[in-house]
Amino acid sequence: MAELYIHGEWLDPELGGTREIRCPADGTPVAVVSEGSDADSVKAIAAARRAFDDGPWPRTPERDRGVLVAKVADLLLRDRAEYARAEALDTGKRLVEAEYDIDDVIACFRYFAGIAGSDAGRVIDTGLTTTISRVVHEPVGVCAMITPWNYPLLQTSWKVAPALVAGNTFVLKPSELTPSTSILLMRTLEEAGLPAGVANLVLGTGASVGAALTSHPDVDLVSFTGGLHTGRRIMAAAAPTVKKIALELGGKNPNIVFADADFLAAIDMALTAVFLNSGQVCSAGARLIVQDELHDRFVEELVRRAKLIRLGGPFDPDAETGPLISAAHLAKVTAAVEAGVAEGAVLRCGGSRATDGVLADGFFFAPTVLDECDTKMRVVQDESFGPVLTVERFTNEADAARIANDSIYGLAGAVWTQDAGKAQRVAAKLRMGTVWINDYHPYVPQAEWGGFKQSGVGRELGHAGLGEYRETKHIWQNIDPEPQGWFSG
Ligand code: NDP
Repeated sequence: MAELYIHGEWLDPELGGTREIRCPADGTPVAVVSEGSDADSVKAIAAARRAFDDGPWPRTPERDRGVLVAKVADLLLRDRAEYARAEALDTGKRLVEAEYDIDDVIACFRYFAGIAGSDAGRVIDTGLTTTISRVVHEPVGVCAMITPWNYPLLQTSWKVAPALVAGNTFVLKPSELTPSTSILLMRTLEEAGLPAGVANLVLGTGASVGAALTSHPDVDLVSFTGGLHTGRRIMAAAAPTVKKIALELGGKNPNIVFADADFLAAIDMALTAVFLNSGQVCSAGARLIVQDELHDRFVEELVRRAKLIRLGGPFDPDAETGPLISAAHLAKVTAAVEAGVAEGAVLRCGGSRATDGVLADGFFFAPTVLDECDTKMRVVQDESFGPVLTVERFTNEADAARIANDSIYGLAGAVWTQDAGKAQRVAAKLRMGTVWINDYHPYVPQAEWGGFKQSGVGRELGHAGLGEYRETKHIWQNIDPEPQGWFSG
C-alpha cells in the first residue's frame, strides 16, 4: 500500500499513516489507503516545482499537451466501469449516478483537449520598426488542488484538465473520505505518458496536508472547492504569499416558482433540484420561493412526491438517491433541521435519519420539506448540504428577486414561469453565477461556472477555466535600444 504519488513514484507517507474507507451506504470496508501529512505535501510541492521550473511539460506546445489530455479521456472511457464503481463505493451514491459523473469527467477532459492551442496569443502591430509586440499565454506554475467528497472526480477534473492543457504542474489533495478515484486518475495520467512530477497526489486531512499546500511559498495557485468556512481559511493562508486563488464555495440556491409556471415540470425539477445526490450538491435548489397563490397546491404535491423518494445504496436497483457522506455530516444536517423547526419552520416531511431495514447501517436522511420559512431564518441562510428544502412565499416579481438575492451566496438559482419576458427580467436581477429558466442543474463545459458574492472567487470550465490556470502577458521588446536622453546626467 503506497498511494501517495510524488514525482512519478508511488510512495508511503513519511509518517506511515493509513485510513480505512467505508461505504457510507452500509459501512462495508472499501479500502485502506495511505494517509499523508504536511511533510508529504512539502515533498510533493518540491516535485511539482522542479517539474515546472526544469521539466518539459510547461515548454511542451499547448496542442501537444492537448493530445495527451485527449488520451486521458480515452483511457477514462476504457476504464469507465472501474472508475464508476470506485466512486459509488466511496460516496455511497447510486452506481448509475457515478456512471453519469464519469461521463461528465470524460467530457471535461475532451473539452479541454479540444480547445488546446485555440487561443494562441496575438501579435500587435505597433507601427514602430524597432519593436516586436506580442501577447502570449503562460502557465501559472505549481497549483494546489483541494477537492470535496460530493463529486470527487468531477470536481477534480474541472481543475486538472485545464491546468494540464495550460502547462501547469500540480499537487492534488482530495477529500480524505473519497480518495479512490484520485488514485485511479494518477495511474491513468501515468499511463498516458505525463512526465514525472507534473501530477502529484497527497492523501490526508485538510488540517495537515491541505494547510501545508495553501501556505507554502512554492505554490503559485490554490484551487479549492468545498465549504465557505474552509474557503475563508484558505484565502487567509494564501494571502501572505499572494497566491492566485480559485474558490468554489457552494450556495444556498433559490428556486423561484411563479403561479403561471408549468406545474408538473416545476414540481418535478424542484425535487431534482434539492434531492439529487441527497442535496450534497453545491448548486442544489434548497430554497423554494413560491408565489403565494400557488403555495398550497405546490407544496402539497411536492411533499406527496418527496415522501415517495426511495433511498438505497449504490447497487440497489430501486434506489432513487443515496446516503449522506458521513456520520459527522448526518449530525450536521440533523442539527440544521432541528434548528429550523426551533426557529418556527413547519416540518412537512422527513426531518430525521432514515433507518428502515437495510438503511439502518448507512447515513441516510429522509427527504425533508420545511414550510413557512422566512429569509431571516438560519435554516434558510446556511447551507445544510443535505436533502432539506425550505419553502418561502412571495407576492410579486420584485419581491421574488429581492427574497432570492437576500443571501451571502450567489452560485446558482432558477426561475419558473411561462412568461418569457418575466423570466428574463427576474434572471437579470438575480446575483448568481448561473441562472436556469424553467430548468435546474444542467451545465455545459463551454460555459463558465462560478459564484457571485461569497460563493467563490474565479470561474471554472470553458475559456474562463483555462484562464484561471494561465497568465496573460504583454511582451514589449525593444530590438534596437538607444539612450532615450530623458535625464541628461
Ligand atoms: P470542507 O470545506 O471542510 O472540505 C473540503 C476539502 O478541503 C477537503 O479536502 C478538506 O479536507 C479540505 N480542507 C479542510 N480544511 C482545510 C484547510 N484548513 N486547508 C486546506 N484544505 C482544507 O468540506 P466538508 O467536507 O467538511 O464539508 C463541509 C461543508 O462544505 C458541507 O457541509 C457543505 O456545506 C460544503 N461543501 C461544499 C461543496 C461544494 O461543492 N461547494 C462540496 C463539499 C462540501 P478534510 O476533509 O480533510 O477536512
